[in-house]
Amino acid sequence: MSDTIKALTETVRGRVITASDPDYDDARAVYNAMHDRRPRAVVQCTDSADVMAVIAVARDSGLDLAVRGGRHSVPGFGTVDDGLVIDLSPMKGVRVDPAKKVARVGGGATLGDVDHATYPFGLAAPGGIVSTTGVGGLTLGGGIGYLTRSVGLSIDNLLSADVVLADGRQVTASDYQNEDLFWALRGGGGNFGVVTGFEFQLHEVGDVVGGPLFYDFDDATQVLECYRCYIDEAPEQLGCFFGWQVAPPLPFIPADRVGDLFCVLVTCWNGPHDEAEQIEVMPFPTLQSAFDDLVPKGMHHYWKADFATELTDEAIAAHVRHGKQTPNVSSSMHLHPINGAAQRVGADETAFGHRDKSFAPVIVGVWPDPDDDEANTKWVRDYYAAIHPHSGSEGGYINFMSGDDDHRAAENYGANYERLSAVKAAYDPDNLFHVNQNITPAKGR
Ligand SMILES: Cc1cc2nc3c(=O)[nH]c(=O)nc-3n(C[C@H](O)[C@H](O)[C@H](O)COP(=O)(O)OP(=O)(O)OC[C@H]3O[C@@H](n4cnc5c(N)ncnc54)[C@H](O)[C@@H]3O)c2cc1C
Repeated sequence: MSDTIKALTETVRGRVITASDPDYDDARAVYNAMHDRRPRAVVQCTDSADVMAVIAVARDSGLDLAVRGGRHSVPGFGTVDDGLVIDLSPMKGVRVDPAKKVARVGGGATLGDVDHATYPFGLAAPGGIVSTTGVGGLTLGGGIGYLTRSVGLSIDNLLSADVVLADGRQVTASDYQNEDLFWALRGGGGNFGVVTGFEFQLHEVGDVVGGPLFYDFDDATQVLECYRCYIDEAPEQLGCFFGWQVAPPLPFIPADRVGDLFCVLVTCWNGPHDEAEQIEVMPFPTLQSAFDDLVPKGMHHYWKADFATELTDEAIAAHVRHGKQTPNVSSSMHLHPINGAAQRVGADETAFGHRDKSFAPVIVGVWPDPDDDEANTKWVRDYYAAIHPHSGSEGGYINFMSGDDDHRAAENYGANYERLSAVKAAYDPDNLFHVNQNITPAKGR
């Protein structure tokens, strides 16, 4: 056993999994099967003390350090070759205070863990659209989901975070302490430390009216034209994103339409049920896990992201042209609206600077067979190249990027990049936390 592994096993309570363990392959796997990396050790941290111990060993040994919550990062930021991985998945406890409508959430919880804990109280924290996504990565990048229009991004509902820093100390960041760190955590990704606990403002969300509405692909242009007007003015209790969907073999799809390409509007109405055109009433956690089976772990992923100030006629034409080539049931383009409550937060109030954008489009290539890597990656790249000239914006949402988009970091963080770089220099001057959409520490501090 090497000195590094010995130092770890002597200090942490969680398991230290290395290549000699039978479950090493499970432990090192991340959601996107395109990343086949072999860390020196995966440490399943049980508490902040474990996180502190791994950080100390990483600093002393000089090994690369990756941090993971739900393992969903498309660029595979939750793993690293020949380095150490802080795996926060044992830290998934959620404590709900129904009187204050606040939840304390462990740094390794998934959205499903949070929904499970909050739903019985008729409450929810804003998350995404797939329940297996980690709260950690999703929140630190921003957090776009069904409730964005009504209560804002996940970060807009973050009240505080407990963070283990590069120097090994744990601090709390909020509006009242370590304010610069709190600002940077809300959109700056995993650059500033390991968040062991999040505190979220919850909202009254119980059963919602929602689900996918299918339209024939031939009507795609009209659906997109209607969607861009409607979503601009629709009541904010409505979450609704546009996407392409190759019909999967599910009971509600007529057998002769399985495999056909449709447009979908995926809706979530969190207002009075009698004010909605009835689609289906369902518990919010049911909607948030409705698409889990379309994206099981172990698929190959390649994504590209954009921000768009408006959806022009030219953009719609490009979407329809490339949407028509959507390769399979798991791939899509999702056009997430980021208006409503998300736009009422100032561009410099949090590190998520793109508050003037109306849409966060993401082209999602997901497929099972490595032989299809080249063709599907090309579909995503060509699609992005066609829509980006019409977006009226630089950059894209950091959580929807692929690994070869790391060079876009500055434009993805937008006008806030310089300030983020200064906060990075203050909290992580040696860039210990660099396996992420990386922010370079500012020089001369
Ligand atoms: C199927 C699927 C659906 C998705 N749907 C949505 C969606 O609806 N809305 C949306 O906004 N995004 C969505 N995403 C994108 C998602 O937000 C990012 O992939 C995010 O990074 C996932 O977080 P994770 O904790 O699961 O990932 P991981 O791979 O575990 O981590 C990702 C990054 O976050 C950092 N990180 C994670 N946890 C912590 C922590 N506690 N402290 C410090 N750093 C941490 C890691 O260091 C790493 O850099 C989706 C992704 C997938 C694959």
